[in-house]
Amino acid sequence: MISVNNLQKTYGVISALKGLHFEISKGEFVLIFGPNGAGKSTLLKILSTILAPTEGEVYIDDINIYKNSHEIRSRIGFVSHEPFLYENLSALENLVFFAGLYNVDNPLNKAKEILETLQLDARENELVRNYSRGMKQRVALARALIHEPDILYLDEPFSGLDLLGTSIITNILKNLKAQGKTILMSTHSFDDCADLAHRILLLINGEIAFMTSDVNKDHFKQKYLELVSINN
Ligand code: ADP
Ligand code: MG
Repeated sequence: MISVNNLQKTYGVISALKGLHFEISKGEFVLIFGPNGAGKSTLLKILSTILAPTEGEVYIDDINIYKNSHEIRSRIGFVSHEPFLYENLSALENLVFFAGLYNVDNPLNKAKEILETLQLDARENELVRNYSRGMKQRVALARALIHEPDILYLDEPFSGLDLLGTSIITNILKNLKAQGKTILMSTHSFDDCADLAHRILLLINGEIAFMTSDVNKDHFKQKYLELVSINN
């Protein structure tokens, strides 16, 4: 469903992605790991069409995403570690605003429905700036889902979250996986997420060190430490 071909990104002299090739099937949940600076955020921004690659192509169902970014954006939801919400609006107002941007039918109903699903409806009229980090991140997830995308990209969605916040988001992700969404997520929280993953992709220095469907925690940790220390 998602096909990445020779993807490269350079920032001046820095080569952040060095020619990535991989495919993701419909309904797959793929986790991206890798040390800081490996290129995880760059990859997810490019896949979300926020950033243009220097070289290479990405296809969704054989559609080139940069040549058809308008069409493709309606199929993609993106959550980064920064929530990017209007702090002086309520959660409901934020979502109605973003629903409008995506031309969602009946924005108010859709916003209310999604806030209920993410258990935010009790406080939907409070200003976002009064929310905890965990609640803000859930509103960010609600925003990413408002137009019912079938593909979800998440860039370290747990950063700064406590145990409860992490567990709530993990449960939401479990439901999204059960709904058949195709999900690609970068994280450092291996123990919280390993059970969700169909496959793991390890990125080091802008290259795929490995991609495997062996999601055994011990195997992964051992291999990760070996490979990361070799490259440092
Ligand atoms: P990760 O998310 O895995 O930590 P990033 O994708 O943020 O990695 O960064 C990959 C590399 O690209 C790093 O060396 C980083 O310093 C560099 N980089 C990222 N964004 C920029 C930018 N806007 N300008 C210059 N260099 C950047
Ligand atoms: Mg990053």
